[in-house]
Amino acid sequence: MSPGTRIKRLQNDLRRYAHAYYVRDDPLVPDQEYDQLFDELERLEAEHPEFASLDSPTMRIGGVPDDAFAPVQHQLPMLSLSKAQEAGELESWYRRCQELLETSEDLELTCEPKIDGVAVSLIYEDGVLVRAATRGDGQTGETITANVRTIRSIPLRIDGDPLPLVEVRGEVYLRDADFHAFNAKAEAASERTMVNPRNGAAGSLRQKDASVTAKRPLRFLCYSIGQMNTDEAPETQWQALEKLKGWGFPTHEHARCVPHLEGAKAYINEILAIRDTLGFAIDGIVIKVNNFASQQALGAMLKYPRWAIAWKYPAEEAITRVLDVDFSVGRTGAVTPVARVEPIRVGGVTVSNVTLHNMDEINERLHLRIGDAVWLLRAGDVIPKIVRVQKDKRPADARRIEAPSTCPVCGGPVARPEGEAVLRCMNGLTCAAQQRQALLHFASRLALDIEGLGEKRIDQLLEEGLIDQPSSLYGLKFEQLEALEGFAKLSAEKLLDAIERSKATSRPRFLYALGIREVGENAALNLANHFGDLDALMDADLEALQAVPDIGEISAKYIAAFFAEARNRDEIRALQDAGVHWNPLTATLEVKPLAGQTWVLTGTLEDMTRSEAKSRLIALGARVAGSVSKGTHQVVAGPGAGSKLAKAESLGVPVLDEAGLREVLAKHESH
Ligand code: NAD
Repeated sequence: MSPGTRIKRLQNDLRRYAHAYYVRDDPLVPDQEYDQLFDELERLEAEHPEFASLDSPTMRIGGVPDDAFAPVQHQLPMLSLSKAQEAGELESWYRRCQELLETSEDLELTCEPKIDGVAVSLIYEDGVLVRAATRGDGQTGETITANVRTIRSIPLRIDGDPLPLVEVRGEVYLRDADFHAFNAKAEAASERTMVNPRNGAAGSLRQKDASVTAKRPLRFLCYSIGQMNTDEAPETQWQALEKLKGWGFPTHEHARCVPHLEGAKAYINEILAIRDTLGFAIDGIVIKVNNFASQQALGAMLKYPRWAIAWKYPAEEAITRVLDVDFSVGRTGAVTPVARVEPIRVGGVTVSNVTLHNMDEINERLHLRIGDAVWLLRAGDVIPKIVRVQKDKRPADARRIEAPSTCPVCGGPVARPEGEAVLRCMNGLTCAAQQRQALLHFASRLALDIEGLGEKRIDQLLEEGLIDQPSSLYGLKFEQLEALEGFAKLSAEKLLDAIERSKATSRPRFLYALGIREVGENAALNLANHFGDLDALMDADLEALQAVPDIGEISAKYIAAFFAEARNRDEIRALQDAGVHWNPLTATLEVKPLAGQTWVLTGTLEDMTRSEAKSRLIALGARVAGSVSKGTHQVVAGPGAGSKLAKAESLGVPVLDEAGLREVLAKHESH
């Protein structure tokens, strides 16, 4: 492409993008892309001045003022800022300032976070806000006084001795939390959401009906004084910020005056480190020569003042393309769609995979297809997220994304349980993706209680390929264990003993150990009590399952789906063949001694912490509640007990002291 054609193309594209961004508040491309194209155009126009034109986007500031609002001439133009992204650019800016000021002394600088919002100019006459305007094209803005009056952090009157005329400049913006809350509400009401906080703020400011603006949580931070009619004008930017603060304007809490460029560099890093915690979007740091006389001497170019520069942080938004969607299975069986995207740099890292969370996210929120151009957001350390699809860039062959009907890891059935957004693999016990979790659960205290088989050991045995499904534990050999790192003879023997001991279990424990979704300890106990033997349970239909106390429709479905799987039945047989057994009568004996009782702990305990007492009571089957009522069975009161003790006494609830509690625990725990 000849430079002339490229320049024309860039001018047209950038004009379109700027219009969408500044006038419609609905950007077509991320800032990163806009800035790259803009830089390219500036470079090409400089190399080929014959193709430059006065109406090129490089010649103008901002957008075209919207004629829905009365135009207003700025007495002092509202300029853009030249940008730096590398230390070298910052250094040459600083050196150039020194050269132009004919000094080799350090220059004092002010540093302020560059909020990503909308610039406004506020005119106060005799201390009263009389006009507010947008930047517009830098020379002519739009009058938005009524809308700005609705922003609570903008004083309608300046405190103290009013000046005949003063112009305050600053940024109207949205805090992240307010932006998210607004979008969540809009989404729920199927109304239009905001693209990002900046465009949201711009759109809110340009409402024709100020009562709509009033409902938007807009905020304001000011950063400079424009015109000012007084003999006591501040002499530095820092003094100006102090004056604004004194007048009751919100200024940057993090603004700082530094003695030289090194100070500004340190500031840039400091703010970058806390960027995510500010609560609002900033896209960089504005560095200004502090002294106004020096600013005056440095002057401005067509679009930018020479005395200031914007340091740009890495962009947090980018557009890329979805190449495919894979489904991965997590440790809990959640089947999660993951978009493979064309690798792109965003938020300082290269991103090639993005989680899509669930099918609703794909079909109902994003309306995403494979091949789509998508906006990626990666703010701080937060995982990258697809925030929207750029519909006008959808290729003709874009494909719909289908949810898998079987688990991509084990081929087992997947289901989307009612009320849940995620798909799940139903083969918790035998699916390779879920092995670690299944083994941990199987060996846990309330399941088969294999002492010494914790996370570390399970990971080691899995890594060595010695185990996979729970039944494989019973095939472990002494020689295999002894050869492992960290396994002395004694511990290998101890572990094998514990595994051997676990073979003698109870039916409820065994059922619980299978890790069927929704089947906790209590459900396992009820199932074991209800069905005389395991085969009857394995063959039970939904109706029979729902006849069990506390087993609802959802749990019944999970249980039936679990036993319908041949692999799960095979694993149960394998466990039995390995010697896992139970006394058919033990089921009913497992009722816990304090089951059905509600206990309340109050005051301080001396020999144990409250949380220890609580977990020991829970282990015995009690429920531990936070307040006393008629339904409370027992209150334990230590020294310092107050209103709960009084209430127990008034309701006639029995009260124990710590010694009494110890007795109860000792009596039941030994069994
Ligand atoms: P700018 O980046 O040149 O910065 C100037 C603005 O910074 C001021 O008007 C002011 O509003 C703001 N600012 C924030 N804190 C400040 C402070 N402490 N002191 C002084 N000013 C402060 O703004 P611009 O001229 O609007 O820049 C254009 C930028 O907008 C581009 O870099 C691009 O990223 C973005 N843009 C994007 C698209 C798009 O399609 N995505 C289109 C046009 C422009």
